[in-house]
Amino acid sequence: MQLSSVVSHSEIYPPSTEFAATANATEALYDRAEADRLAFWAEQANRLHWDQPWSQVLDWDDAPLARWFVDGKLNVAYNCVDRHVHAGHGDQVAIHWEGEPGDSRDITYGQLLAEVCRAANTLTSLGLRAGDRVAIYMPMVPEAIVSMLACARLGLTHSVVFAGFSPSALRQRVDDAEARLVITTDGQWRRGTAAPLKAAVDEALSADGGAASVEHVLVVRRTGIEVPWTAGRDLWWDETVGQASAEHEAEAFDAEHPLFILYTSGTTGKPKGILHTSGGYLTQAAYTHHYVFDHNPGRDVYWCTADIGWVTGHSYIVYGPLANRATQVVYEGTPNFPNEHRHFEIIEKYGVSIYYTAPTLVRTFMKWGREIPESHNLSSLRLLGSVGEPINPEAWRWYREVIGSNKTPIVDTWWQTETGAMMISPLPGVTAAKPGAAMRPLPGISAKVVDEDGNPVELGETEANGYLVLDKPWPAMLRGIWGDPERYQDTYWARYGTRGWYFAGDGAKLDKDGDLWVLGRVDDVMNVSGHRISTAEVESALVGHSAVAEAAVVGATDATTGQGIVAFVILTGGTEDTGDALVAELKAEVSREISPIARPREIHVVPELPKTRSGKIMRRLLRDVAEGRELGDTSTLVDPTVFEAIARR
Ligand code: ATP
Ligand code: MG
Repeated sequence: MQLSSVVSHSEIYPPSTEFAATANATEALYDRAEADRLAFWAEQANRLHWDQPWSQVLDWDDAPLARWFVDGKLNVAYNCVDRHVHAGHGDQVAIHWEGEPGDSRDITYGQLLAEVCRAANTLTSLGLRAGDRVAIYMPMVPEAIVSMLACARLGLTHSVVFAGFSPSALRQRVDDAEARLVITTDGQWRRGTAAPLKAAVDEALSADGGAASVEHVLVVRRTGIEVPWTAGRDLWWDETVGQASAEHEAEAFDAEHPLFILYTSGTTGKPKGILHTSGGYLTQAAYTHHYVFDHNPGRDVYWCTADIGWVTGHSYIVYGPLANRATQVVYEGTPNFPNEHRHFEIIEKYGVSIYYTAPTLVRTFMKWGREIPESHNLSSLRLLGSVGEPINPEAWRWYREVIGSNKTPIVDTWWQTETGAMMISPLPGVTAAKPGAAMRPLPGISAKVVDEDGNPVELGETEANGYLVLDKPWPAMLRGIWGDPERYQDTYWARYGTRGWYFAGDGAKLDKDGDLWVLGRVDDVMNVSGHRISTAEVESALVGHSAVAEAAVVGATDATTGQGIVAFVILTGGTEDTGDALVAELKAEVSREISPIARPREIHVVPELPKTRSGKIMRRLLRDVAEGRELGDTSTLVDPTVFEAIARR
């Protein structure tokens, strides 16, 4: 049996005529892609500057090892920076950088080019050559973006490690990629205090007899705090990059040259080192940024609130927007420093028109209260985006009404570290969106919802649930797991055998109109007395109650029902914990909204939920708690101490 959704599918938000009139996207885009998929992608690749044209759009003979734009050559950094300067846009602001303590810097494309060239000259003088790996362990400072682009320019493969990760998480990633260089900062601002970061690098590199691969550590001064120093190995950025020549000629690399390795969030297990290459990746990042955000250089001020330690920061702060000559905001700190107004002040200050964030932050804003955004002029916003988790309809509506003055389109973008760029999303100006639905695969992308055996789910009177698969290769697809070809096969391609489909690991449903709703990972679909219930739907019902700000639901082994539903909830600001009465009310709410089968066995009121930096709830760890097991790998959590607070309840 499939449970019906808590969402009314008849709630539809068509694009306004004004928006549609000037939108980048049109319905014809789907038709063109449908008529000739590879010709469509070739057309998209022509957004970029190629030093040598490709001879073939796709070589899929050796599937699942794809080669896109075969024989084509390009330089990724040239495409993101130089060509805009050459076209006369050197004075356009590329980055409005906003530091946590309130300092700010505007960096033009011309200045960005000079910085990237200086950094490239420095890395070359350190003996780094195309193909070498560089670890970047930095907060959201401009030099982090410069470092990524300098690597891209030289054909070095970067591995960005989120600066909130522990020394041991850094060390694992440095070792796995055998990085020759680590780029970091002296410290990072964290809610008004300067926290050491270089010291964490030293701790990481000296553990277990020392990291063999690392020859140098390049250090940007950010906070001015004291740092431990190893002469000969460690170098200051200002004394090296700051002194280097701003002239550097970019060399063209093969379309399949490795661009970066990035480890997944680890919500389902040990993080995987996902490998991405150059031409196809940049093509899809630029294409999606252009259409899904309806981006227009010179008109828009764009802001993606992700961290560069996450794939969203790679594709939608660095590569997509810069390839499209965006003017964007980059913010160093947290949304509530010095207070909860910070994001809204930044939107006002720069006139942000496109704002892209995660559902977890939208729910946090809801918890803080609508008076906060309502005390700001947010009228510059024309489009809002969401990524990272299914967005519950309640949050979707609030986002549109309170932040988007009831008029902005919302793009709910489904994609993964592995897909490299957006895959399933409404197209603004074209799609009549439904709150909580990712809607349709983007033009050029093909996806299916299938059952265990790979049969497409039947669209009956109501909706149908199944597994999300990508049945055709796409330009930004991962090219492997670093150093582990077997895990690449097993994780993504083995599930449907010879069919050659990519198994996304997410559950999805198709509604009666054929629109797609991502339900979260397959592991997050619970089995209660033989009924399949998605954690996302139960969570959505819980946050529909006015006392609940956030909810995380897991299935715990249950002797009688197979799995029992265990919920952890955070209450909205001002709500008194009314104990058993509240818990009973919430259980009743879920029964009413979904079905008595979905009624949680236990509900725990907790002060915090364990999350990754990308805003995902670590359900696998909550499952460990619910089943009384020892916690699994916690290395990618923002704050591992959250469990102490949960345990105390
Ligand atoms: P790991 O694979 O190690 O468990 P992860 O999957 O959390 O880590 P990411 O690649 O950052 O790491 O996340 C991709 C996942 O995020 C998707 O598979 C999906 O579950 C979820 N996701 C992202 N965007 C959306 C969205 N718009 N709607 C629903 N789910 C989304
Ligand atoms: Mg994943």
